[in-house]
Order: sequence, then C-alpha cells, then structure tokens
Amino acid sequence: MREALQTMTEEGFAHLIETRTSELAKSLAEEAVQVRQEIYGKAVYVRGLIEVSNICKNDCLYCGIRASNKNCQRYRLTPEEILECAGEGYRLGFRTFVLQGGEDAYYTDELLVSLLTKLKEKYPDCAITLSLGERSRESYKTLKEAGADRYLLRHETADKPHYETLHPSSMSFDNRMECLRNLQELGYQVGCGFMVGSPGQTPQTLAKDLLFIRDFKPDMCGIGPFVPHADTVFAREPSGTVELTCFLLSIIRLLHPPVLLPATTALGTIHPEGRELGILSGANVVMPNLSPENVRGKYELYDNKLNTGAEAAQGLKSLRERMAAIGYEVVTDRGDVKK
Ligand code: SAH
Repeated sequence: MREALQTMTEEGFAHLIETRTSELAKSLAEEAVQVRQEIYGKAVYVRGLIEVSNICKNDCLYCGIRASNKNCQRYRLTPEEILECAGEGYRLGFRTFVLQGGEDAYYTDELLVSLLTKLKEKYPDCAITLSLGERSRESYKTLKEAGADRYLLRHETADKPHYETLHPSSMSFDNRMECLRNLQELGYQVGCGFMVGSPGQTPQTLAKDLLFIRDFKPDMCGIGPFVPHADTVFAREPSGTVELTCFLLSIIRLLHPPVLLPATTALGTIHPEGRELGILSGANVVMPNLSPENVRGKYELYDNKLNTGAEAAQGLKSLRERMAAIGYEVVTDRGDVKK
C-alpha cells in the first residue's frame, strides 16, 4: 500500500477512507509498524508537556480554553515556574520539553528569549519544543535563534471552508499555513496536525489533510480525536473514533515514514488502551503531562482530559510498563526526527 499512497489522488484518499474495513485497517497497521520499525526500531519517545498558560486571545469553536469561555479558571506560569517544571522533568529523565499554551500576550519575544536562554544553559542536552500558536516570522526567527528546536502548530484542517467553520472570522486559514511554511523555512523541526472527527469533517476534507501532509513532509504530526467540551459551541457533537484515528495514523506513517507521530492524550482519553492502540497503528511518541499539579486540571481543551497515571510525567514507570507489555521501549533521549 505504501507505494500506492505516494501517488494517490484526493478522490483516491476519500474513497479509501469511505470504504475502509477492519481488515484494511489491520493490514495498513501491520505495514505501518514494519516501516516504523525499520527507522525507529521499538523505541517510543517521550516528551514532557508543560502547559504554560490557558489564557488565549482566540476563540476556536471547539476548544475548552477559548477566550469566550467564562467558566474556565485562567492561569499562566511564570518563567521561574516553567524552569522548575523542566527541572522536575529532567530529574525524571525527560530530555525534551514542550511548552504549549493559548495565545497569551504575556509571553513576549523578550520573555521567551530569556527563558529559552536559561533552559538551554541549564539543560544543553535537551530539545525545546514550542507550541504557542501563530506568531510573526520575525518572532519565530528570534525564538529559533534563542534556542527553540521544534514548533508544533496543528493546521487543524487543510480545507479552507472547513477551517472557517471551526474558527471565528478573526482567524485565517492562509495565515496558519503561512506560519507553518515560515517555521519550516527557518529550520525548525515542525509539527502540523488535525483533530479526527471534528464537526463538519468529511472523507473529502480528510483527503486534503493527507495530501497536505504528503506534500509538506512535517517532522511531527499530531492527530487525535476531537472530544467535545461542555462550554463550547460543539458541546453536543460526537467525539472522533479510535478506529478512524488509528487508520489515519497508519496512513500518515506510510505517507511519510520518518514522521514523529504521537499517540495523543485525546486518544488515551476516549479509550483506556488508546495509547497502545496508537503505537500499534504506527505512532512512536507519547507526551506525558509535566505541568505543576495545581494547574493540571485547568488546561481543559476538552471534557475529561486525562492527566494522571501513565499520562503524568510522574507516571513514567507505569508508561514504561505499559509500553513494554506491547513490546516497546520508552526512550528518554531527545528523540530527533531521523531523516
Ligand atoms: N494555541 C496553540 C495550542 C493549541 S492547543 C496553537 O494554536 O497551536 C493544542 C491542540 O489541541 C489544538 O491544536 C487542537 O487541535 C487540540 N484541541 C483543541 N480543542 C480540542 C478538542 N475539543 N478536542 C480535541 N483536541 C482539541
């Protein structure tokens, strides 16, 4: 299938998704696991996720920390608190930190440059990933020069009209895509991605996501099921499924074999073995939560978001055991993309 996917048309992808069967999913997963094995062996890379702020100027219709959600208890971490989290993560064995947050103007270039400089001084053997939304090319450049290695910015959907139904008119599909191109040109390891089962998604919009990924060749790709949040417009929409998420994980692995592909928290949230199923479909990254205990429940992108057990950085032992049980080994080095 790997070869066929390289030249498949948009209609071809839509048809593949529409007519999928559990047998096809199984054979794609086997092929994806084999392809990943050749590049990454049995390694599962871990990243310590620090959720720096749930204050956000944007109002994405699906997101629990959207600006208009009055029920969200807001917080932000200071640079000192972020450095403390990283210290805790370092002691636990993490060598990659992901700083993710809402678009919060508190995190100016100046603040981030000073923070990145300190992080790199203290932990020169660690990779730093930022996931702070859309910023100017200049800002991305400044942050790269200050030591940021990677940037995660999900494209959310590669179909412009669909993008416009998920976001307020103040946000622009073209700008998001432009940000991704800028990040790539500036030399970041870049992650795009989308939610599976977001309201309005169709086999046709998913086909566009797959074409975009094949063409863009991201170093990372975050895909996880959409899960509704009670305080959003989409409160009553159904969640995405484990089955379609895993099917797409396998296709993405086959489309772009070196991609670093997380088995996401959202996948772990909708199914007790979600992470394992993701790994067995071709994923090779897990991102346990390293945020301070007192704010951990507040970065609530969707209802019932997991942050304990193997989903917590402190649960690394349990994560190791769970991965070992399916024949995989948790690796705590930087886990750079292998090109
Ligand atoms: N402000 C940053 C980080 C956003 S939160 C940015 O713009 O990139 C990280 C990701 O969580 C989002 O990109 C989105 O795909 C996902 N997310 C948000 N709400 C969600 C929901 N209800 N269900 C599943 N995933 C969600």
